[in-house]
Amino acid sequence: MTPGRLGLLGGTFDPIHCGHLDAAEAARAALALDVVWIMPARTPPHRPGRPTASAYHRFAMVALAVADRPGLLASDFELIEEGPSYTARTLDRLAAAGWRPWQIVFITGADAFADIASWHDYPAVLDRAHFAVVSRPGTPVASLRARLPALAPRMQDVRGRLEPGRSPAIFLIDAPTTAVSATEVRRRLQTGEPLDRLVPPAVAEHAR
Ligand code: ATP
Ligand code: MG
Repeated sequence: MTPGRLGLLGGTFDPIHCGHLDAAEAARAALALDVVWIMPARTPPHRPGRPTASAYHRFAMVALAVADRPGLLASDFELIEEGPSYTARTLDRLAAAGWRPWQIVFITGADAFADIASWHDYPAVLDRAHFAVVSRPGTPVASLRARLPALAPRMQDVRGRLEPGRSPAIFLIDAPTTAVSATEVRRRLQTGEPLDRLVPPAVAEHAR
C-alpha cells in the first residue's frame, strides 16, 4: 500500500461553516490529498474564554457537515487529548503514530497563518509538516510574503501530489472561499437571521 497524504484543518468550529469546507476542499484538490481531517480543538489556545458550543456540539456539527463529502472526515484527534490543543503537540502525536512530515499538510486560512509567530513552538512547528495556507476573503495569500518576510523563502505556489521525503514547505493556495466567519454565524443565530449558504443545511438545523 502506498503511504497516504493527510490534510488537517484545525480550528474551533463554533460552528463549522462553508468557508471551512471550501478551504479544506481547495487544499485537498491542490495537493491531491487522500483525505482531510476536520479537527476541532479541545481547548483552543488562541482565544480568550470558552467556545459558545460544547465540544460535543462542535464535533456533531462537523460530522453533519462532512457526511456527504467523501474526502473530508470529522476527527476527534485533538478532542480526546487533555490540555490545550497546540498544533505542535498534535503533529508530534501523529509522528509517534508513524506519520512522516512530508505526508502531512496542516491547512489554515491566511488570517490564522498571519499569526503563526505566536504559535506554540514556533518556528519548529513548521518543520513537523507541510503547511497549506488558503486565501480568506479580505486576506489574500499574496499578502503573506510581505507580512512574514522571514518565511517568504519557504512559501511556494506549486501544485500536485507531494513527493516522499520532500522538506516541509508552505504552500499558498489562492482559491475562492465563502465570505463567512463563525463569529458572524453566532451573531445571526442570536438575532434569528437566516444562515442560507453560510453553513450546510444540516448544520443550520442543528445549531438553531
Ligand atoms: P471565529 O470567527 O470564531 O474566529 P472562524 O470563522 O475564523 O471563527 P476558526 O475556527 O477560527 O473559524 O477557523 C479555523 C480555520 O479555518 C482557520 O485556519 C481559519 O483561517 C480558516 N478559515 C475560516 N474561515 C475561512 C474562510 N472563509 N476561508 C478560508 N479559511 C477560513
Ligand atoms: Mg477565527
